[in-house]
Amino acid sequence: MSDERLARHSDAIIIGAGPCGLFAAFQLGVHGLTSQLVDALDRVGGQCIELYPDKPIYDIPACPAIGAAELVERLTMQAACFSPVYHMGQQVASLERTAQGEWLVTTDKGLVLQASVVVIATGGGSFTPKTPPNLGRLAEFEGGAVRYAVPDVQAHAGERIVIAGGGDSAVDWAMALCPVASEIVLVHQREELRAQKHSTARLQTLVEEGRVRRLTGRVIDLHGTAPSLEAVTVHGREGRVVVPADRLLVFFGFVMREGALARFGLDLCDGLVPVDTERFETSLPGVFAIGDIATYPGKLKLILSGFHEAALMAAAAARRCRPGESPSTEYSTSSPLFRERTQSELGGRSP
Ligand code: FAD
Repeated sequence: MSDERLARHSDAIIIGAGPCGLFAAFQLGVHGLTSQLVDALDRVGGQCIELYPDKPIYDIPACPAIGAAELVERLTMQAACFSPVYHMGQQVASLERTAQGEWLVTTDKGLVLQASVVVIATGGGSFTPKTPPNLGRLAEFEGGAVRYAVPDVQAHAGERIVIAGGGDSAVDWAMALCPVASEIVLVHQREELRAQKHSTARLQTLVEEGRVRRLTGRVIDLHGTAPSLEAVTVHGREGRVVVPADRLLVFFGFVMREGALARFGLDLCDGLVPVDTERFETSLPGVFAIGDIATYPGKLKLILSGFHEAALMAAAAARRCRPGESPSTEYSTSSPLFRERTQSELGGRSP
């Protein structure tokens, strides 16, 4: 295996950076275990961020009401003192056991990670971007000039970019790409955007300054010789408008797909992963499952349940990674590692 493909070894690999995966990174850290998280999306937060970032959540202990996006931000900060490593925009494609009893996780981008334990926190499945309906020649340009995510802003320097969509992702990326792109055109079917008010207001300022152009309609055709895009046709209020473009970024939201679990060799029950309620271990030794993907009698698909599952899973993972050490209840305040990390400035590598 080449060195570029084999990322660093950690105690744990967490598949899925939703609320439960993030809290798992924290709990594993309290026990002194290092973790790497892999998520198919380009940002953390799972359902909270993709499906209801602005919705208040009322059933998180000690938070009478907290916005889903704020909860994710706080979970990320909490995990950061244990410096988890994030591999975003990568879907886990396979899980294999090494001869030494460790686990190898391979992503669809060819990244291979190795760890003693694996935590499956894939929730309802991986989110797959919704594609634009009835867009001519889409397949020719997809993955190249037409994309559904922005893993690297600088890669778009100097480009003429058309962004399709009217929600938070479309508006946020229009603003984030504005300083590097040579032109940004935001195409949305309706005059009214669906993004948060403050984002919409900031975008409007960019429109008034002539730094972002808005068109009301939908992209119906792509022009150029693949892989090079030259223009797109927008059909809408202004009739048919041909917009010169090097890149089309589509942000129409996501649909959930079951993902690659069926190929992992795990016992499954109706697409979910059965676990015991002592360790939250699956049918594969050293492979745990928590959050919405885990099932057991009485399971409640709530964030709170995933937090409890993460705590018991981390204790079991610690016993597995450090078999000689006697198991004990680790209070966050009595963990020397935790004290040391929280007393220094909150570090960690942000996703
Ligand atoms: P998810 O949030 O689903 O995250 C899973 C992550 O795994 C995703 O980011 C996905 O991209 C990633 N993933 C999946 N497969 C792969 C793969 N193969 N490779 C890489 N990454 C992968 N719960 C509450 O407790 N209170 C509420 O008020 C509440 N309100 C809700 C409102 C709505 C509209 C919805 C839809 C849900 C609500 N829930 C609520 C439920 C809550 O959101 C879920 O219980 C929670 O998100 C589960 O977290 P998770 O980390 O297990 O999974």
